[in-house]
Amino acid sequence: TFTAFVIDDVDGKPKGGFKPLSLSDLPDHDVLVEVAYSTLNYKDGLAVSGKGRIARKLPMVAGIDLAGTVVESRSADWKAGDKVIVNGWGLSETQWGGYSRFQRVKPEWLTRLPDVFSAEEAMGIGTAGYTAALCVDALEDWGTIQPGGKEVLVTGAAGGVGSVAVALLAKAGYPVTASTGRPETHEYLSGLGATGFIDRAALQEKGPPLQKERWAGGVDSVGGITLVNALSQTVWGGAIAACGLAGSADLPGTVLPHILRSVTLIGVDSVAAPAARRERAWARLARDLDKDHLKAMYTVEPMSKLPELAGQILAGRVRGRVVIDVTA
Ligand code: NAP
Repeated sequence: TFTAFVIDDVDGKPKGGFKPLSLSDLPDHDVLVEVAYSTLNYKDGLAVSGKGRIARKLPMVAGIDLAGTVVESRSADWKAGDKVIVNGWGLSETQWGGYSRFQRVKPEWLTRLPDVFSAEEAMGIGTAGYTAALCVDALEDWGTIQPGGKEVLVTGAAGGVGSVAVALLAKAGYPVTASTGRPETHEYLSGLGATGFIDRAALQEKGPPLQKERWAGGVDSVGGITLVNALSQTVWGGAIAACGLAGSADLPGTVLPHILRSVTLIGVDSVAAPAARRERAWARLARDLDKDHLKAMYTVEPMSKLPELAGQILAGRVRGRVVIDVTA
């Protein structure tokens, strides 16, 4: 047997805890993976703490990411020994996830681990980092951000999505303004390439629907008034790629930036993103994410600390990313 973090029904409520599982307990999917590492994302914090109903069926092995090695495969696409990652695809929601020494998954959920990354480094990136790459791809496709041009805003900058977004944008030559509520992270964010800072409180005060045009584009993981202000401060024709709700799921704004400045709100979902977008995002990460920056971004923690770490990420106290060692 091996240990997994399982959400189960306790007196009508979902509650997480450590449970022993054996291979015969795992779902009957075609590829058996020996998991080396998983990660802690904001969504995992919600699932592990029980503060958000992430699991849509119980019992559910939590963990939206995994990295490891194929042990057995009934699919011609994968063979024993292949190094793989899974991000999203309903893991921890409708499919058993990564907080487990072994997991069975569908072949089409697997992405090949890029050669430049170890399993630990890939989980240092995880869903948060891969989503940041999806956001940067979307902004580049939109076309108004320019290397050496006007500022690009990153909100929730010291968090997981934010840290990777700052690093990727800076590496591609875009001037990055980081919005954070933690001034003590300025040095860390400057190290990743941020050149400007804006206090997150300044973006949380409701302002007029059209404000001074400051941003060529932006990556937002906060939502709420922060996202509304970001849109109100975006240049004519610019775009904000929004992927998160760490502040709020509301969108309390007006259509004015959209109809008077042609500003676009690009929605970014990582869970069901098709394989081609995933490969492009991981190729960007492999090409542009500096190894020293990546090392500075994450810590490795044992799975046994998950409950404590979940509380920390929901309280906004995690800097960068947390890799979960599922063997410890
Ligand atoms: P994270 O590491 O906790 O980062 C979130 C950051 O947001 C925090 O570090 C903090 O940054 C800021 N923040 C937290 N609470 C806030 C509040 N009340 N008001 C304003 N800012 C606040 O989480 P993550 O894993 O990067 O995920 C970030 C968000 O993106 C989450 O909502 C997550 O669900 C979402 N997400 C979505 C997708 C998708 O597919 N759409 C994928 C990945 C993540 P500072 O300390 O720097 O201010």
